[in-house]
Amino acid sequence: MTGAQAENVLEICGLRTSFLAGSKRAVVVDDLSFNLRKGEILGIVGESGSGKSVTLLSVMGLLPERVAKVEAGSAVFAGRDLIAMPFGGLRDIRGNRVAFIFQEPMSSFNPVLTVGSQIAEALTAHGLCSQSVAKDRAISALQAVQMPEADKRFDQYPHEFSGGMLQRAMIAMALACHPEVLIADEPTTALDVTIQAQVLQLIRDLRDEQGMSIILISHDLGVIAEMADRVVVMYGGRKMEEADVFTLFEDCQHPYTQGLLAANP
Ligand code: ADP
Ligand code: MG
Repeated sequence: MTGAQAENVLEICGLRTSFLAGSKRAVVVDDLSFNLRKGEILGIVGESGSGKSVTLLSVMGLLPERVAKVEAGSAVFAGRDLIAMPFGGLRDIRGNRVAFIFQEPMSSFNPVLTVGSQIAEALTAHGLCSQSVAKDRAISALQAVQMPEADKRFDQYPHEFSGGMLQRAMIAMALACHPEVLIADEPTTALDVTIQAQVLQLIRDLRDEQGMSIILISHDLGVIAEMADRVVVMYGGRKMEEADVFTLFEDCQHPYTQGLLAANP
């Protein structure tokens, strides 16, 4: 590439987060810095407990307040530090300009409201369309993720959906709200293998067709190898290595990454 490097849409610098463990505080993410570039899929990989979810919850102000604390660091999005921002400002960005997909699709929806009404509500709350067309827009989004009988599904509750369907509904919400950044935390871990491939393809489409910048968190190296452009490897709350995906899989530098690759041929 001869031009300037791709623009960063999210810059995380020096993040440190701790949890209250008994009477002490345990640091679970430390000295963590990485950037998300425009239009890329950045993979974050690491074994269970390595701090992947805590990293993103820290950035988005979604940690359990009573026990967790961001002790240091910044996360700059659109010229503003999300970590220093008051919660109200963050709420404006969350869902609207930065969307989440969680591992457990059930936790992403309110169980007492229909799935369709929640997508429509997200659209109107973010000022993306008026009440009168929100339902049509939500149904179109459900159709775009190949939800069978999308118009009937609109009126159903979360418990009437399978895990894969709910995950697709989450993606439909992201699609309809077209956020600039999507953070997907283990989006396929709870799904059957056949459904996994479909959900991953939909996430790839968001990048390819809408130019969305995506952070894809996974403990599964196969998923990361298939999806990511660049990869951050975490262990024990720290970044072990950061590389483009080919370099990582062909010529990784860090002994931890080498071990991880050897254990997952
Ligand atoms: P990963 O997503 O990589 O599997 P997490 O980010 O969820 O890991 O967790 C990192 C570490 O943070 C865990 O090993 C755990 O010790 C700690 N942790 C996470 N959530 C909590 C919590 N609610 N209370 C106390 N410690 C927690
Ligand atoms: Mg996690």
